[in-house]
Amino acid sequence: MIERSGYDRPPHPDTVAVHAGRADLAALGVHAPPLDLSSTNPLPDIVHGGDSYESMATGGHPLPDGGNVYARLWNPTVARFEEALAELEHAEAAVAFGSGMAAMTAAILAHTSAVGRGHIVAVRPLYGGTDHLLDAGLLGAETTFCAEDGVAAALRPDTGLVIVETPGNPTLDLVDIAAVVAQAGEVPVLVDNTFATPLLQNPLDLGARMSLHSATKYIGGHGDVIAGVIACAEDTAQALRRVRAITGALLHPLGAYLLHRGLATLPVRLERQQRSAERIVAWLAEQPEIAEVRYPGIGDVRGLVPRQMRGGGAMIAMRLRDGYPAAEVLTGSVRLFTHAVSLGGVDSLIQHPAALTHRPVAPEARPGADVVRISVGLEGPQDLIDDLAHALVRVAAAVA
Ligand SMILES: *Cc1c(COP(=O)(O)O)cnc(C)c1O
Repeated sequence: MIERSGYDRPPHPDTVAVHAGRADLAALGVHAPPLDLSSTNPLPDIVHGGDSYESMATGGHPLPDGGNVYARLWNPTVARFEEALAELEHAEAAVAFGSGMAAMTAAILAHTSAVGRGHIVAVRPLYGGTDHLLDAGLLGAETTFCAEDGVAAALRPDTGLVIVETPGNPTLDLVDIAAVVAQAGEVPVLVDNTFATPLLQNPLDLGARMSLHSATKYIGGHGDVIAGVIACAEDTAQALRRVRAITGALLHPLGAYLLHRGLATLPVRLERQQRSAERIVAWLAEQPEIAEVRYPGIGDVRGLVPRQMRGGGAMIAMRLRDGYPAAEVLTGSVRLFTHAVSLGGVDSLIQHPAALTHRPVAPEARPGADVVRISVGLEGPQDLIDDLAHALVRVAAAVA
């Protein structure tokens, strides 16, 4: 934790983002966090090394006199990033993985097969990869998909986990986290918090057991790391670390180093990206080629944004009046936006979910062929609007 040194209020999240996970650096005599790439570690002796191994293999920490033993069990650079992310999420702990999907897989295994429960309840819409993982039953658990108000009715005695995503990828649908937690009762709720980031939403404060991020997106923020992380209480972290140690779903320390560095600029990136997104949303709403703009806060009759978020973020979805042909021209005509999947980076991206990120989703739950999703980056907002305007002229000409 960041040293509070007697000040009468906790540090602002912007301060946490810059300083978390760095409390010991001055004592180490360094300014940047060390990057430990060791795959194995010298053992003090068999007894202490073995005890430390046992502690970590069951999800605990390395023992002080036993060492880190082997990097599949523990890596200090990864642990440093986890500590920082946990503090931003108001969590006791965080566990990092080699991808968002590896994190989701570990959460499912830890709450289903590892504890003798075989059922999951999941609220759609979800990221296409998550939907696919659940629908395929690849991990041996059976999933009941439902709408937000159907969670209680979908629960079974063997339900081990409830999964929701808000704002949802790609349509920006919002889920009332506290209402789902109330319906779930004793069953742990996992919230995929990727779109909101820890700066805009803290699911644990609303009663969720886990907050999952595809750290590939906003947390890394530069399109150069694939990673996932789950913030949670220490007992849940132990269960997740045990699965991680056994299955090997590790985050490489270089990735953790870059994510920790990314955290420091997350507040300023997001603030600026969100401001640009709001401007683009207002502009898009005026364009005749756009049938509907989806952004948190638009049509939010339940007041969920003020209740559980601190802003709408920088992801926008839109439905095109002329459907798939218009989407094809739009994604093919932009020059400044990159036509690519993924999101949350410094540069703006545009993509067609039904054809790409949500392709494996069952037809009845798949986003429409008229939906295009954009991730707003750090370019000048007027340049982004000019780029979309130019592309929409091409759309209008093509469908005329
Ligand atoms: C990208 C994404 C994931 C999967 O993360 P990866 O890092 O690509 O494995 C999960 N959830 C959401 C909301 C995402 O956008």
